[in-house]
Amino acid sequence: MASEDELNLLVIVVDVNPIWWGQQGQREPEFTLCKCLDAVMVMGNSHMAMTRTNRLAVIASHCQDSHFLYPSKTWKSGDSGGDEISSSRDGKYELLAVANNLIAEEIRNIMAKTEVTGNSTDTLLAGSLAKALCYIHRVSKELEVGQEMKSRILVIKAADDCALQYMNFMNVIFAAQKQNILIDACVLDSDSGLLQQACDITGGLYLKIPQKVALAQYLLWVFLPDSEQRSQLVLPPPAHVDYRAACFCHRNLIEIGYVCSVCLSIFCNFSPICTTCETAFKIQLPQMVKPKKKKLKQAA
Ligand SMILES: [Zn+2]
Ligand SMILES: [Zn+2]
Repeated sequence: MASEDELNLLVIVVDVNPIWWGQQGQREPEFTLCKCLDAVMVMGNSHMAMTRTNRLAVIASHCQDSHFLYPSKTWKSGDSGGDEISSSRDGKYELLAVANNLIAEEIRNIMAKTEVTGNSTDTLLAGSLAKALCYIHRVSKELEVGQEMKSRILVIKAADDCALQYMNFMNVIFAAQKQNILIDACVLDSDSGLLQQACDITGGLYLKIPQKVALAQYLLWVFLPDSEQRSQLVLPPPAHVDYRAACFCHRNLIEIGYVCSVCLSIFCNFSPICTTCETAFKIQLPQMVKPKKKKLKQAA
């Protein structure tokens, strides 16, 4: 049983990549971004309705940036008066009405502002996760004395992985692991090696859902219970984790490669200069020559 004072923060990161969702709409007209956000709201509402101390944040991960859908700058918890946004019509719990309206309004703003520049079509997932970690950190700093907080991040992933973000992504994963923050992943389309690793390292759940239209059901069944409650459920078996890393030169997945000793970039071919951090490596010498010389000097 969670204590009354324990704050439970859930940050949902939704991939709103307009290109992927545009193609998805053509493939399966019955599952659109709209439906996906409905499912996210159902999940968010259920989380907030479970306990008074449960907190929610929703971040939209776009191509070039990431936006807070909830809570947004225009609304802060505590100011409930006056705003037309906060009026609940049908006797619904006011907080839920506020959250849903805000999410809908913010996503409309983002999509209206979207310009197709054509340069970057990848979702900026690593950036959104970093933003989620920063938000969690901020909330943890605002806690009252004696209050504790548990937090987790749920990623709803649509578009393909971007190997360019590999390093940022891994940094975010290790930061989350250090802060004891679970990362869960609900994958709509093709498997994501990066998220498999994120879930495995942080102790979260990775699930590629077999039917996209059933997203809300999977969210409520698999991802709504926290880590303690999950131990009592019979959940889908854990996914095989693809621990291969993508080489930075060709973005191929490789099992054995060359690693830059300075920035940990991975390459499938040896190159004398690291293309990521521009460190120049000395030409490979037989590695035992130097230490042997030192030992001889010391002996003499
Ligand atoms: Zn390569
Ligand atoms: Zn390097």
